[in-house]
Amino acid sequence: MTVAVTVRGAVKTYGPHRVLDEVDFTARAGEVTAIIGPSGSGKSTLLRAINHLEPLDSGFVTVHGELIGVRIHRGRLRELSERAILRQRSHIGFVFQSLNLFPHLSVVENVIEAPIVTQGVPKREAIARAKELLAKVGLSDKVDAYPRQLSGGQQQRVAIARALALEPKLILFDEPTSALDPELVGEVLTVIRDLAAAGTTMVVVTHEIGFAREVADHVVFLDAGRVVEEGPPSEVLYTPSHERTREFLGKLV
Ligand code: ADP
Ligand code: MG
Repeated sequence: MTVAVTVRGAVKTYGPHRVLDEVDFTARAGEVTAIIGPSGSGKSTLLRAINHLEPLDSGFVTVHGELIGVRIHRGRLRELSERAILRQRSHIGFVFQSLNLFPHLSVVENVIEAPIVTQGVPKREAIARAKELLAKVGLSDKVDAYPRQLSGGQQQRVAIARALALEPKLILFDEPTSALDPELVGEVLTVIRDLAAAGTTMVVVTHEIGFAREVADHVVFLDAGRVVEEGPPSEVLYTPSHERTREFLGKLV
């Protein structure tokens, strides 16, 4: 099994608050790794660290073997240039909780923006590829619509197509359905389920425990900045060994 993401000894503090407290985390290529845990436990901070949106105080992250945000120079960690970080980030898709499409751009323009700007893909080619991706997420009829004309579920599916347009090696999802009306959750989860079936490497922060049971290969339970428990869904979500995990899962049902 190839390792996609390694986090070792991650520490992140905000003032006196240790938000990540020596977190070790591994996500394997071709698998769905679900991160669950109470609000404030550090889930978003961990995802942001994987993307180097949140530099760590100590510890390190690698994605497909490459150190993220730093390089080792004469035995010391040195921050990479902004340009090198952007290049690394372009291999990592990120879908946020909030609906964050560019409001002044049409659906297809949202999807082609990054490939044209960061990868220099010719416009015609970017458009052809964007249309394929929009078909894949069931939005062929919305290519020329604007975000305000779409439901939340449709906007999140555009956000997924936009992430896929960079042909990422890894996609991070931060509670992709939590801003949606309940009846729109299913259509977004279906797209993620299809990506999982195609072997896409994904790390998904989610409160949808039923979805995690069904789709995740590996589940990590985070509490107060620490990994309390991890393993296959059959263990962590059905027969957790820690009282804290049982308590958390008990509150969700
Ligand atoms: P989760 O995603 O699990 O709800 P977060 O990673 O967003 O948790 O946040 C973990 C903790 O870190 C919370 O207590 C939050 O208030 C705090 N936090 C997150 N980002 C910042 C920030 N930029 N400045 C100060 N505190 C922050
Ligand atoms: Mg969060």
